[in-house]
Amino acid sequence: MRIDLHTHSTASDGTDTPAELVAAAVEAGLDVLAITDHDTTAGWVEAAEALRPGMRLVRGAELSCISPDGRGGTCTVHLLAYLYDPAADAMVRAHDRSRAERRVRLRRIAERMAADGLPIDPEALLAALPLESTAGRPHLAMALVRAGVVSTVDEAFARFLNDRGRYYVPSSRTPVLEALDLVIRAGGVSVLAHAFAYRRGPTVTADVIADLAAAGLHGVEVDHPNHDPDARGKLRGLAGELGLLITGSSDYHGTNKTVHLGQESTDPEMLDAIADKATGVEILAP
Ligand code: AMP
Ligand code: FE
Ligand code: FE
Ligand code: ZN
Repeated sequence: MRIDLHTHSTASDGTDTPAELVAAAVEAGLDVLAITDHDTTAGWVEAAEALRPGMRLVRGAELSCISPDGRGGTCTVHLLAYLYDPAADAMVRAHDRSRAERRVRLRRIAERMAADGLPIDPEALLAALPLESTAGRPHLAMALVRAGVVSTVDEAFARFLNDRGRYYVPSSRTPVLEALDLVIRAGGVSVLAHAFAYRRGPTVTADVIADLAAAGLHGVEVDHPNHDPDARGKLRGLAGELGLLITGSSDYHGTNKTVHLGQESTDPEMLDAIADKATGVEILAP
């Protein structure tokens, strides 16, 4: 069984529409696909309508959060939320606020670039992004590619958009304990995404993950393209100690990233455990 539980569509910063994402998953031979756009459920309906025999769909999202880093400071963490009720009031409000704040933030980054003479038009960039989809740095990276400043999205991140770069503005972030509570109250299951992806920026310590587990976190993403063997080993051990579920996923973003669908996979027993714990919505079969 190939089970990929972390992917993005054009509802956030992927390049496949939700229907194209499902078609690509069928093409890649996946048995189960999760759609987990940043801070939105806008892609769920289109993805569900595109389902084909032989494939099941897990509806979810990825929430941007701020967390204690375990060293006296804070850092960004991403929380995957699965099978929650998309109409849950507090969650809808949190998604709406995140998307609104992300637009302001992306405009700010774009303005800083324009002020530096880079060929970026903040107005045009924002105008091209629908309100119900989630604005992110990859949209700006694509604009830099279109303007001929860089030749790939990766190069745009390496030169201009990474967390340590001069234009960086943090994204809208919900305190992680609040986000956990939102997921729980919406009947969802929470999995901490790419927790030890050191290359992406600062990460949390094992103690923080233990605190999150005590606060209701259900699982950790162990097999992720940005996790080296050492990170995977540490997380797997920690999950065992803390009784957390383990997932593996590609974090596919279409052509915005070089990973491919199904590059990493989740064990069927883990998916069953996720389905058992969720009370929001069910895994969809065509
Ligand atoms: P944002 O949510 O706007 O802060 O942007 C984060 C997104 O940018 C992530 O979900 C990734 O899709 C993408 N990203 C982050 N770092 C890189 C990188 N080095 N190369 C390509 N994409 C990246
Ligand atoms: Fe992304
Ligand atoms: Fe993420
Ligand atoms: Zn992601």
